Amino acid sequence: MEGNVKVECTQGDITQQADLDAVVNAANAELRTGGGVAGAIHRAAGPELEEACRPMAPIKPGEAVMSPGFGLPNKKIIHCLGPVYNIDKPSDQLLASCYWNALKLAESVRLSSVGFPAISTGAFGYPLEEAAEVTADAIHSVISDLSHVALIRMVLFSDRDLQVYRKAFRINR
Ligand code: ADP
Repeated sequence: MEGNVKVECTQGDITQQADLDAVVNAANAELRTGGGVAGAIHRAAGPELEEACRPMAPIKPGEAVMSPGFGLPNKKIIHCLGPVYNIDKPSDQLLASCYWNALKLAESVRLSSVGFPAISTGAFGYPLEEAAEVTADAIHSVISDLSHVALIRMVLFSDRDLQVYRKAFRINR
């Protein structure tokens, strides 16, 4: 707990977080289905998701947009375009912007819980330890501005990812 906001890191699948108001998609600029998180989210949400996203595309690195959850158990999906490491620069600021903009959108519709995957650490090549540090700093820096979001969950796909993010967030369990 930091103030009234709980931040946790768990191992799991971002499409299986039924207790959260919103989950974040590690999207592509066109907001289409793809590999990794985007593929899993679009498969679980169904074809309506691509249709709903089309008018909002393309988005730029660091930006976030929001859609309904459709077939996902969550009310909303927040789509963030992470930076391609060392191509979209400054990569650290663009990655931090993803988390800030996603939380700003969640606040704007008064959501109380949001789950994030490890944005940019898959196809976009961000080194895990560096991404974890940037992410932890970005989230810690906005916590005091949140008035609706009370739970932030980092959902890490592998046990190794979980250990790295726990260390960066200084969570010792
Ligand atoms: P990016 O293009 O932003 O790098 P990816 O989807 O390729 O996004 O990967 C981001 C991270 O999400 C990687 O660490 C990957 O292992 C992880 N990941 C892939 N599928 C899932 C899933 N279903 N749930 C949670 N994390 C996932």
